[in-house]
Amino acid sequence: MIQVIPPRSGTAFELKRGESLKVIDPQGEQVADLVAFNRHDTGEAISSGRSIDYASKIYLSTGDTIYSNRSQALLRIVEDTVGRHDFLLSPCSAEMFRIIYGDTEPHRGCLGNLAAALAPYGIAADAIPTAFNVFMNVPVDAATGVIRVEPPLSRAGDYIVFEAQMDLLIGLTACSAGQSNNFAYKPIHYELIHHGLIHSEAIAHG
Ligand SMILES: [Zn+2]
Repeated sequence: MIQVIPPRSGTAFELKRGESLKVIDPQGEQVADLVAFNRHDTGEAISSGRSIDYASKIYLSTGDTIYSNRSQALLRIVEDTVGRHDFLLSPCSAEMFRIIYGDTEPHRGCLGNLAAALAPYGIAADAIPTAFNVFMNVPVDAATGVIRVEPPLSRAGDYIVFEAQMDLLIGLTACSAGQSNNFAYKPIHYELIHHGLIHSEAIAHG
């Protein structure tokens, strides 16, 4: 069943080992920040630094693994119709909107939305790491290291599928930052794929 994250909001849910999470951009050019924690020990969390190190590249896509701060595999990307996601930048936040956009009454951003969604699981805002920024398009100039935040390459209906490598707690947003989403705030859709159900359906259909 497809779930909807309304514009500029976020949610949290459990994803069991072997289940898959499909993140869909229903309208195009919309980023979704994804964080993941070990469901049984939330001190273990998604690690941008380790994942980039072990993949030896900054743009992860199909076949690549997302690692934890303890170097355990959390998620594997099994499908990706876009091929461009960011894993360098932190979730947008009220402070970021003050510093970069000069907002005087800033939105709480993905960080605030993730903190609110993860609070019932005992995770504080300071424990939220750099997210895997699904569909975020941050080209890097190879010579100077200068980065730009460009509109996502995702079109309506594009998606990415992650397979859980351990029992996880996931935080997921429809990003609140103007630059990241070509200055239009849209929803994000997601779907949990339970392999056991798909398997039994396949059997029922012969
Ligand atoms: Zn954001």
